[in-house]
Amino acid sequence: MPELPEVETIAQRLREGRETHPLPGMKILRTSLQWPRHIQKPSLSTFRRRIKNRQVVDIGRRGKFLVFTLDEDYMLIHLRMSGDLYLQTASEPRGPYEHTIFYLEDDWQLRFSDSRKFGRIYYVQDPEEVLSHLGPEPLDPEFTAEKLTNRLWKHRRMLKPLLLDQRFIAGLGNIYVDEALHYAGLHPQVQSNTLSNHQAQKLWGGIRTALEKGLVHNGASIDWVYRGGNFQNEFRVYQRTGEPCPVCSTPIERIVVGQRGTHFCPGCQPEKHL
Ligand SMILES: [Zn+2]
Repeated sequence: MPELPEVETIAQRLREGRETHPLPGMKILRTSLQWPRHIQKPSLSTFRRRIKNRQVVDIGRRGKFLVFTLDEDYMLIHLRMSGDLYLQTASEPRGPYEHTIFYLEDDWQLRFSDSRKFGRIYYVQDPEEVLSHLGPEPLDPEFTAEKLTNRLWKHRRMLKPLLLDQRFIAGLGNIYVDEALHYAGLHPQVQSNTLSNHQAQKLWGGIRTALEKGLVHNGASIDWVYRGGNFQNEFRVYQRTGEPCPVCSTPIERIVVGQRGTHFCPGCQPEKHL
């Protein structure tokens, strides 16, 4: 599933138009909606009518949502399990999973490829209609270690599921939570309210390190259709079960925490911290 670094990379590519064309300034002439359930809000017919002739002004990101600022209103896209979004010309052969296509000026097409079809599209007047439940952005300069510490102490939950909870912190998924906990030297099942101030600060640093490394590598390309990232080659624990920890050489272990496969190093991330 695309997480913060992958979604941010997609937003940047669409904004800057590297190797293609910048999306800002382009007008959406019509849409091809072959998987109607992509449209979460409003109804299909209203979406089709309102998106027509809208000009894209900017593309940003909030949590794992892509936020398209239009000349009127906003379009939000959540890629969910397997979504990818890219600009191509009409002459490029159509991929098997490009269920939703936005036809733009000059034969450009914004294609939403989604093999598992869990992606969602919203058209709203105010992005907060969709985003209001999200917790803070982990890379926001205002999201200090102290703020994370206070939030951790307010909850009595295991770190892994808490960090995956988009209401607690936005943008993290299975990859970056496992990597962040390894950078922080914290076991995924530690209770959030039992962390020391120092441990909470290490977690704050670990989250930033994992995300920033992911961004430098344009995200990770694994078991989904997203192309062009290579952070998967830098994983320290994620999907490295049985391989040596790059820090202490202890074999990486996999456990299930809150129904999610979880990878950690028993050497660097011991269960008992105190
Ligand atoms: Zn280790």
